[in-house]
Amino acid sequence: MTITIVISFLLLTCDFIDTQIPAERKQKEMTYSYACLDSTVSAGRVNRMLGKGGDIVRDLIVSEKTITDEVQNEYGAAFHKDAVESKTFKMLDDTKINSHLNQVMQELLAVREVPSKIDYHIYALDDTAINAFTFGGRIYVTKRMYEECEGKTALLYAIVGHEIGHSEKGHIKRTIQELHVSNKIFGEENGLTAFSIKRILTGSFNQKNELEADYYGTDLAFQLDQDVCAAVSFWRKMASSENEYNKVEDFFRTHPFSALRAQCLQNHINANFSKKCGLLK
Ligand SMILES: [Zn+2]
Repeated sequence: MTITIVISFLLLTCDFIDTQIPAERKQKEMTYSYACLDSTVSAGRVNRMLGKGGDIVRDLIVSEKTITDEVQNEYGAAFHKDAVESKTFKMLDDTKINSHLNQVMQELLAVREVPSKIDYHIYALDDTAINAFTFGGRIYVTKRMYEECEGKTALLYAIVGHEIGHSEKGHIKRTIQELHVSNKIFGEENGLTAFSIKRILTGSFNQKNELEADYYGTDLAFQLDQDVCAAVSFWRKMASSENEYNKVEDFFRTHPFSALRAQCLQNHINANFSKKCGLLK
């Protein structure tokens, strides 16, 4: 089935009220610094091939304005339908895990300051890789990733918050644009299935996007009184274990970015929350 693409995130609702959040937890002007990144920020396949002209070509082909939240929702619904029907994803039939994921997602969505109209849904996948990703408001978390968070609920908030960040910060919107460019340039209009989209998706976020999503997720988790150092510990662990890293090759393909990512996130937490993250737990 031909799908026209793409990404993004969630939905919200919830009557979570602002007044439930202690004043000191209210979102304030956050400082998002990328100075910790090196200059060789990796880019996605399309951008790598297009080089500097990529942005220009992309903007000419598809204006960012045309990829509204509603359009992203449509892409997400089509993506999910194809992913299930083509058995690209094996959904995990576990009510407990799925409802826990949904609860975490709804809590995070409720504390966004400027919520999008993206319609979010979250699903557990029966998959042994440590992985999580998002597209058109649909968030997927593998069983192995969920298990990695057992006993470390704060990490689950960080991971889901990170995925929400990709949508709320417009990364998915830009990925949809890139998919359109890819269509024009690589002639994939007949091959944009859930499988090919996932393949493009997993290589399309650069380090800056990943960090921005980390920062955004951390900011939401902080408001929910979660331990914001959990993600720092996770990335340190990923950086220190090749074996563990091999399990994350698909979506979180950041090595040797993991160590840098942990450091950048730690800097962010220190700068914005005056909190220092300790040694690896
Ligand atoms: Zn990401």
